[in-house]
Amino acid sequence: MSSLLVDNVGELVTNVPAVGGDGPLGIRRGVALLVEAGRVVWIGPGRYAPAADRRIDAEGGAVLPGFVDSHAHLVFAGDRATEFAARMAGEPYTGGGIRTTVGATRAADDDVLRGTVRRLREEAMRQGTTTMEIKSGYGLTVADEARSLRIAAEVTTETTFLGAHVVPAEYASRPDDYVGLVCGPMLTAAAPYARWVDVFCERGAFDADHARAILTVGQAAGLGLRLHANQLGPGPGVRLGVELGAASVDHCTHLSDADVDALAGSASAGTSAADGSTPAAGSTTTVATLLPGAEFSTRSPYPDARRLLDAGVVVALATDCNPGSSYTSSMPFCVALAVREMRMTPAEAVWAATAGGARALRRTDVGVLRPGARADLMILDAPSHLHLAYRPGVPLVRQVLHNGVPQCRL
Ligand SMILES: [Zn+2]
Repeated sequence: MSSLLVDNVGELVTNVPAVGGDGPLGIRRGVALLVEAGRVVWIGPGRYAPAADRRIDAEGGAVLPGFVDSHAHLVFAGDRATEFAARMAGEPYTGGGIRTTVGATRAADDDVLRGTVRRLREEAMRQGTTTMEIKSGYGLTVADEARSLRIAAEVTTETTFLGAHVVPAEYASRPDDYVGLVCGPMLTAAAPYARWVDVFCERGAFDADHARAILTVGQAAGLGLRLHANQLGPGPGVRLGVELGAASVDHCTHLSDADVDALAGSASAGTSAADGSTPAAGSTTTVATLLPGAEFSTRSPYPDARRLLDAGVVVALATDCNPGSSYTSSMPFCVALAVREMRMTPAEAVWAATAGGARALRRTDVGVLRPGARADLMILDAPSHLHLAYRPGVPLVRQVLHNGVPQCRL
């Protein structure tokens, strides 16, 4: 069995808090890391590193768990650059442009969609993203939702059925009929390719009754639950997500005190280890996933991350990569936004973009670096994680290991 040693590590972010505490990132220095069969098998002082078949010299750079991007919409055709330019010139964002992408996506053949998914997945990988959730939601017919998920499943196991992204134009006058389609034949066709089901619960999209119906039948079909909630205004989405045991409610831009209390309650109920490092098996925590790329790209107020963190809510960061409201695949950019615009500390933002994303996908094998974890990691051209926010827009990710395999160097 081939082994790979990563040594000369300037700073190792493990996300495993040490006894006695050196912060939530569990930072270690002067260590090396041994990888075998796609897993981390040993972490210890560099001078005691075992022999290995191959070696990567981190050259004093920081090594972090790969980013876990738990919210992305990569299966689409066309772009909406002119809509973005109009928005920057003063037009408000309403979410209505989703239908533009639906038309282009339906008209595209499989290879066009596959090409976009692979291009964006590789783009994200080069920026350190080793786990990426991908949603359907631009097909909105039985056949187009199923093929979107089939194509997404070629590059990730974290696939999400989002037939309830928007009511398509042909159902505009009869949204109940569309919800019936989503809950029936569309779910049946999508479920074999999906791990999760999601609903855009927002004024102008799907109300609480629709969302509850779709999530309930999705859960009965064996899918985990996630929700787009409270992005454009206050609403019932966050509390519905907590009530139904969703793994994550995403956006969380407009929250009431009751929303924050519900999320905090789920966090305290769903954490087993006293240090918060290990989610309980079958965790019931609902993570608040913040998507600052969307606020950046729609010039909207950012979510109040401090209010959530100070209340004890588990927070994740993700890109929301999509052609309309957040066309970025860059988790480092989201970390920088979270620190600069949302007053998260660099440590909180890095944790949220790695371990937080893993929690939002209810994964314990990624987002951490410890023996037994998946060997998904990045090596920075920088001595510490601080540089991800300190040097915004700079391609600091020098090397990525995915399942222990070095990816192409930039
Ligand atoms: Zn989204």
